[in-house]
Amino acid sequence: MRIKRLRLTGFKSFVDPADLRIEAGLTGVVGPNGCGKSNLLEALRWVMGETSARSMRGAGMDDVIFAGTATRPARDFAEVSILADDVTDVGTGEGGELEVVRRIERGAGSAYRINGRDVRAKDVALAFADAATGAHSPALVSQGRIGAIIAARPAERRAMLEEAAGIAGLHVRRKDAEQKLRATEANLTRLDEVITDQE
Ligand code: ATP
Repeated sequence: MRIKRLRLTGFKSFVDPADLRIEAGLTGVVGPNGCGKSNLLEALRWVMGETSARSMRGAGMDDVIFAGTATRPARDFAEVSILADDVTDVGTGEGGELEVVRRIERGAGSAYRINGRDVRAKDVALAFADAATGAHSPALVSQGRIGAIIAARPAERRAMLEEAAGIAGLHVRRKDAEQKLRATEANLTRLDEVITDQE
């Protein structure tokens, strides 16, 4: 997967719509302290499904919405979208483009779209996990992350390796399958009880 474009509106300090084209190769973000470099990386993690407000440096998820300044009023929503290509659909095996949009309304939570379709947060997480990336991808190196990787416990390091190997999506599917299996077993037990009652 290669991310080609990042669009932000009302996200943190990016109150006006910003459209960033990301070219092939190495991309650097430079600017003075406090100009919003980390906010850009957070926008990437957020659109890929980040659920922790704390890791977005906020008290609640609404804190990602532009909070206003002395000269500009606060916004009621924030929206971030990314366009990625070289994405392989695990279902069909076909490659293509993926546009993912996440929007949050103040007090009303987040909604996601993939290629124009309303989807669940889980679908977004799965799409990125299959492409060996996502909100917690070790490829997104924010401040303090190197230290965290060095200090990580073996289980956390293993999760990073599994993500790099592209099998994180399989773990999500396995968890789903196990849940369905448990629900089916509970139904069968209940059915046995009903049959015994009838006899
Ligand atoms: P540094 O180089 O110091 O790490 P940076 O370029 O990474 O800085 P960020 O941390 O991305 O900068 O941006 C911080 C700026 O974003 C601050 O000015 C802060 O006020 C602003 N900001 C963060 N959240 C919001 C919000 N919800 N509404 C408005 N502005 C916000």
